[in-house]
Amino acid sequence: MNINLITKFIRELYKSNDFIPLHAPTFGGNEKKYVLETIDSTFVSSVGKFVDQFEKEIELFTGSNKAIATSNGTAALHAALHVSGVQKGDLVITQALTFVATGNVIHHMGASPIFLDVSKKSLGLCPLAVSKFLHKFAAIDQDGAFHKKTGQRIKAIVPMHTFGHPVELDELIAICEEWKLTLIEDAAESLGSLYKGRHTGTLGDFGALSFNGNKIITTGGGGAILTKSKYLATRALKLTTTSKVSHKWEYIHDELGYNYRMPNLNSALGLAQLEKINIFLRLKKKLFKKYSFILKNIDDVKLVSQPKFSKSNFWLQTIVIKKNSKKIRDRFLLKMHKNRIFARPVWNLLHKQKHLKNYPKMNLSTAESLKYRIINLPSSPYLGK
Ligand SMILES: *Cc1c(COP(=O)(O)O)cnc(C)c1O
Repeated sequence: MNINLITKFIRELYKSNDFIPLHAPTFGGNEKKYVLETIDSTFVSSVGKFVDQFEKEIELFTGSNKAIATSNGTAALHAALHVSGVQKGDLVITQALTFVATGNVIHHMGASPIFLDVSKKSLGLCPLAVSKFLHKFAAIDQDGAFHKKTGQRIKAIVPMHTFGHPVELDELIAICEEWKLTLIEDAAESLGSLYKGRHTGTLGDFGALSFNGNKIITTGGGGAILTKSKYLATRALKLTTTSKVSHKWEYIHDELGYNYRMPNLNSALGLAQLEKINIFLRLKKKLFKKYSFILKNIDDVKLVSQPKFSKSNFWLQTIVIKKNSKKIRDRFLLKMHKNRIFARPVWNLLHKQKHLKNYPKMNLSTAESLKYRIINLPSSPYLGK
């Protein structure tokens, strides 16, 4: 593999001799103005006009009926699982190849993740693997699906749109209908990505977005729960506001809740970022085209593109190396880091993370075959001047 060619290309692309990060946010619009406005108004916490406005704009942009802004994407996922009725001891299906948050929230609920393989097409949860697992191990009664051997209730499926590329949602939706499962899309990485023309995170019962500093837009820290259902949105809003019963002065909390709402200060930043999302998306696509142009001449790496049925946000540019070798991968990463270019490997698979390794898993041959092959390359939308 011609690593020198790749590093040289990235240097030229970003026209910089400094450290090149994986993904840096850009603030050139109304960010300062809106943030200063919140400071002047004294409404910096989770009540304020920017929270309402940011939620409204997220609804408009995604086409979601409801959006509830949260303190981060993990909180959005956690609250979505809670509102879905996932309980202690239940089983929740997810993919082994994902960021740790997807598994953590299931663990936090006292439920058990079951790790399934990813699809080669999307790098997200493989519908065939889900279907195989259910047909082999599950049955259904009036309360829904359960595991025939352990008796555990199987409540939900949590697919993740890896690096922004949409998963095969039609197939997963059909499975959820057949087995009466809740579909929670981990859309933390896929703001701006469409599945057959519809925004990711709006096809399932819930979607969870993240606005962390390295995501396509940022609120510093933040996330959002998307849902079609007014009823579920009301539940999610209350649960993330410490389950406080709405009242002018009384502090009555009618169940255990979370303090998961997004502050006005962060929403102000988010609103200014969202005003520029279409520019970011255009620049991301352009960056992808530049990478494809140079990488098509390099034999042993392949640039990951959007699945046919989708329009990706191209959040992180990703290459797949031909050989699944830790040695080759580490040599590549070392060379990048020596050149002060931040490239990173894919996350350690979830069934290998210390606190998740005792949970059940099925055949993970695709995820395993990718674990030393995936590398994310610098993907900041703004290139040097
Ligand atoms: C970023 C991310 C999250 C969590 O978002 P935070 O805002 O960092 O809590 C969850 N899942 C995936 C796949 C992510 O990439």
